[in-house]
Amino acid sequence: MIIIYDYLVVGAGLTGATFAHEATRRGKKCLVTDKRKHIAGNAYTKDVDGIHVHEYGAHIFHTNNKAVWDFVNRFAVFNHYINAPIARIGDELYNLPFNMNTFNKMWGVITPREAMEKIEAQRGVSANSVPQNLEEQAICLVGREIYEKLIKGYTEKQWGRLCSELPASIIKRLPLRFTYNNNYFNDIYQGIPIGGYTQMVQNMLHGVDVQLGISYEEYNKNNPNRVKKVIYTGAIDAFYDYCFGHLAYRSLRFDTTRLEESNYQGNAVVNYTAADVPYTRVIEHKHFEFGTQAHTIITHEYPTAWTPKKEPYYPINDSKNQALYLKYKELAGKQDSVIFCGRLGTYAYLDMDKAVSEALALVNVLIP
Ligand code: UDP
Repeated sequence: MIIIYDYLVVGAGLTGATFAHEATRRGKKCLVTDKRKHIAGNAYTKDVDGIHVHEYGAHIFHTNNKAVWDFVNRFAVFNHYINAPIARIGDELYNLPFNMNTFNKMWGVITPREAMEKIEAQRGVSANSVPQNLEEQAICLVGREIYEKLIKGYTEKQWGRLCSELPASIIKRLPLRFTYNNNYFNDIYQGIPIGGYTQMVQNMLHGVDVQLGISYEEYNKNNPNRVKKVIYTGAIDAFYDYCFGHLAYRSLRFDTTRLEESNYQGNAVVNYTAADVPYTRVIEHKHFEFGTQAHTIITHEYPTAWTPKKEPYYPINDSKNQALYLKYKELAGKQDSVIFCGRLGTYAYLDMDKAVSEALALVNVLIP
């Protein structure tokens, strides 16, 4: 017998899995497909000899949204990992995010007042004007010296553009504190799912039909007229066959190595902020879960230019691309059999918790 699905969910990442789980719970028949051969999207973790390797870069779950936290905790127990990355420039190490530990190491200042005075003195011309770009915003927040040592090189590598040509909003993602607190996030809830993200998403997809290694086009070709509605979490421009042109992204390349030593860098995340080091960060995966194995696995993360054949990671939300996205969005608004959501479907730099909350909100609208 041919099954007719209420929802075809394209993409088995956090958005797709959240939607499919909730829709199934509300009595709808869902099929989740993914062109990759695995679930969990970019949060996918691979178990390599007991270490959960974040194959598409470090994913640390953090949120202020209690409903989202309660939701994900139904599928995994979260550990007590707190992200406290270290920035390395040459052989100097600084704590991130920018906080009293960073200021003490940089300038020898002891009190918040001394740190604020130092920053004030380095703000220069931008002190009274509204920052127009990332460079001005960063200097205004932390002064020129921290900007030059810890922000400029890292950001320009990451985005492939000058800080003076990037939007100020990117740097506002980072907390700035005048306390001795190295927690990278301000959110109330934080942790890594014990057993890995793949297992967590597997639990979300319990009772849901899943087909992997199949594209949306292929599925449609082989199975015409089998779905009532499509929830599409892939790239919106690809769906419309790039009819208005390609949306731009920044891509990443990961170089993963196994080392026969137990502890390579003493921290899960070390950022390399110098312009002449080609990678932005080195991840030591075992430290996300307090691993005690005799070996370790590290990944060097290299930002790369994006081409249509490469994996799209960060959307480039500048005015040109945003305008292009809006054209696609308008087109999408004209058909109600396909709904676009998630990072690629809405062309947005979404943290994992936002992906979950937006998917939960969508289910509430469609299946109240
Ligand atoms: N950033 C920086 N130096 C660092 C870490 C971050 O200048 O050592 C800036 C940089 O502009 C980056 C932004 O902060 O694009 C956001 O960093 P985040 O760690 O949130 O990026 P993600 O982990 O999402 O790639």
